[in-house]
Amino acid sequence: MNSHSLIAIGLLSFLSACATPPPEQPPERSSSAELSANVSSDRCPVRALMSEVDPARLRSDISTMVSFGTRHTLSDAVSPTRGIGAARRWVESEFRRMSQGCGQCLEIATPSDDVRAPRNPEGVPVVNVLAIQKGRRDPGRVIIISGHLDSRVSDVMDATSDAPGANDDASGTAAVIEAARILSRRTFDATLVYAALSGEEQGLLGGKILADYAKRRGWKVEAVLNNDIIGNTGGSSGERVDGRVRVFTEGVRSLETQAMADARTSNGGEVDSPSRNLARFIDGVANDCLESFDVMMIYRRDRFGRGGDQVRMLEAGFPSVRVTEGAENYTRQHQDLRVENGIAYGDTLEGVDFPYLARVVSLNVASLASLASAPPPPTEVRIEGAVSPDTVVSWSKVEGATGYRIWRRPTTEPVWTLSVETGPDATSLRLPGVIIDDWFFGVAALGPDGLSSPVQFAGPVGAFFPPPTD
Ligand SMILES: [Zn+2]
Repeated sequence: MNSHSLIAIGLLSFLSACATPPPEQPPERSSSAELSANVSSDRCPVRALMSEVDPARLRSDISTMVSFGTRHTLSDAVSPTRGIGAARRWVESEFRRMSQGCGQCLEIATPSDDVRAPRNPEGVPVVNVLAIQKGRRDPGRVIIISGHLDSRVSDVMDATSDAPGANDDASGTAAVIEAARILSRRTFDATLVYAALSGEEQGLLGGKILADYAKRRGWKVEAVLNNDIIGNTGGSSGERVDGRVRVFTEGVRSLETQAMADARTSNGGEVDSPSRNLARFIDGVANDCLESFDVMMIYRRDRFGRGGDQVRMLEAGFPSVRVTEGAENYTRQHQDLRVENGIAYGDTLEGVDFPYLARVVSLNVASLASLASAPPPPTEVRIEGAVSPDTVVSWSKVEGATGYRIWRRPTTEPVWTLSVETGPDATSLRLPGVIIDDWFFGVAALGPDGLSSPVQFAGPVGAFFPPPTD
């Protein structure tokens, strides 16, 4: 289903604040056809960008990362050819080369911390490499793509054995680099951050460094797309899965204030964190922009019993998803390179399916471009209507929005199902005959070219930009 609405720009002029709404539309394609001749027949306005994703370049980038032997966080940081230092200097040089090609459009930053942790007992500096592309209209609003550069073998403290980490997570880092190459040639309303993280295998250390850095800079983080293990199609049980990617999200926020908890306990919202609605947005992008390729939303923060850098971003209150291939291969993850009983163990280049990886990267590129071109989700989304035959939805005006789309769904539905659009001046809408108890409600802000923000669930539970807590 599709919550990434591109429907009916022509409808805007018929509506104003609290006007009698037209009948709600399910998001299917057919409902938009007669509404406006101006709406492009292609529901994917960012398709041209996606076509620039190059599987050969992804292969070349991953081969380069593998060539550093190991990228273990505690490995050699000085050698020009082997270890984490050489790897991160290569990523930095790639970002600098891109920046030269776009009139120095990228600010390169290398936030680091020598934090001591059980898996970093000596306090070795953990260094992230970031490229920051400042937004044109709303530079404080930030959309992040991340992957982790570090790798490991069976023993998480083994910093010298070859640890190619081709899929975990050179694939995610290659997605970060490829997105930067393509998107740095354009300008966007919001700021884009391309983040190659380190220290993931040592305890999500790079994710914490990024979260702290974002807080220090006062970024309003709207979305984090953390790509970790995104290039394999040969699942452990023997099946080949190349038609879907999994997007993991928390339902209840890791960072939940008492006010949010109270609202959730009373009125629901357990499956409507901003991260979850970000996942629904990405699912909509896949529906609109990719043929025969689905997002499988997983209503979990990460794989069972496991974690990734998005966890640290969630703990800081930033809406975040984990993107991971449809079926993992456990003989390739966190393994010493070896052959045992005829089975080859280890995370080598042969385990990456580059045409598949290119599709996952193109979904990322399309999602980032859509988010950064659309307005942010409205704030202060509220509903009223207890013991009344109608529901009134209200929201705060969003600078630059061309309109708003008010969504609802039955409380047991996983995705938004019905919507109605208002003009740019509306800040509330009455839905006659809609009993508030029986539905969940949310609002998205609309932008040019039919672009939409993610849907913000009504109430503090769904807020993309909660008040800072420290
Ligand atoms: Zn990983």
